[in-house]
Amino acid sequence: QAKAGGAGGRAVYAPDLRSAATERHVYCLDLHRAATSGEFVLFYQPQVRLADGTLTGAEALIRWMHPTRGLLTPAAFLPQLEKGRLVGAVGTWVLDEACAQAARWMRSGVEDFRIAVNIFGAQFHYGDLVRDVAHALGRYGLPSEALELELTENIVLSSDDSVLDTLHRLRELGVGIAFDDFGTGYASLSMLTQYPLTRIKIDRSFVSRMLQSPREAAVTGAIIQIGRELGISLTAEGIETDLQRDYLSSRLCPEGQGYLFGKPMPAAMFETELARRPLSGPQASPRTYCGQ
Ligand code: C2E
Ligand code: MG
Ligand code: MG
Ligand code: MG
Repeated sequence: QAKAGGAGGRAVYAPDLRSAATERHVYCLDLHRAATSGEFVLFYQPQVRLADGTLTGAEALIRWMHPTRGLLTPAAFLPQLEKGRLVGAVGTWVLDEACAQAARWMRSGVEDFRIAVNIFGAQFHYGDLVRDVAHALGRYGLPSEALELELTENIVLSSDDSVLDTLHRLRELGVGIAFDDFGTGYASLSMLTQYPLTRIKIDRSFVSRMLQSPREAAVTGAIIQIGRELGISLTAEGIETDLQRDYLSSRLCPEGQGYLFGKPMPAAMFETELARRPLSGPQASPRTYCGQ
């Protein structure tokens, strides 16, 4: 049958199809090896109080130390990972590793530290997220208030009542629940009243455009206002300039995150930052957390 298609057609189409399939296959094997042989690592990005720049915590962000392709960011592998069966195990590993790291930092004297961990949608549907969280907290002796789970509105939307129930049980444990990338998905405002949220993360797209566009500024201001009225904390994502920070601060957004304060970095580097930087608290110095 290989001959029947004609040499020309095969030459044009078949090799491409074959290599695409092979590539996908290799990639899956690759992901499996990565998950089982420690090629995934967590980077940590500072989160700060905008008023004085002091550190409030860190968001854990996954990276893949690929043996031949180098350091990969989530865009390169999360879509593929989320399609497969490994996603649950990787999600559990992220949770465990982030809690272990945060507990080490807190034991070494860092007070009032909060670690933010991103959750995959699959973690709500397979396995037992509440049990995994309780285990991770217990294993490392991390106080539950020090852990915040970040989920996108689309995860919550694409799901049933069991997700709401899971979120309530997580809140009962004392863990924080943050809505990530807020304002970019399909959530309606009523979700803010229905879900037991403790934080809204204002998406970077608003922050990057708000100083040029009065409309983006208005929406950003309105999100902050809603959060404040509901007694929900707010973090602005993707702050890259002093002007953005000053504007958000003047609009009373309490916290922020972005390259202005620090890029995601390996744990060892974050530790150096921790040692150098004032933490939020009475003795905190008024200068900004990180200039570059
Ligand atoms: P996210 O949770 O919204 O994380 C913030 C993303 O914005 C990170 O990208 C971070 O590096 C980037 N970022 C932070 N500050 C700035 C800035 O000032 N400017 C710009 N241009 N970008 C900034 P990253 O690490 O590539 O992660 C992308 C997404 O992948 C995350 O978005 C999150 O949805 C997902 N993700 C990352 N790590 C994990 C994980 O461990 N588990 C799960 N479930 N998802 C993860
Ligand atoms: Mg996040
Ligand atoms: Mg985000
Ligand atoms: Mg995002």
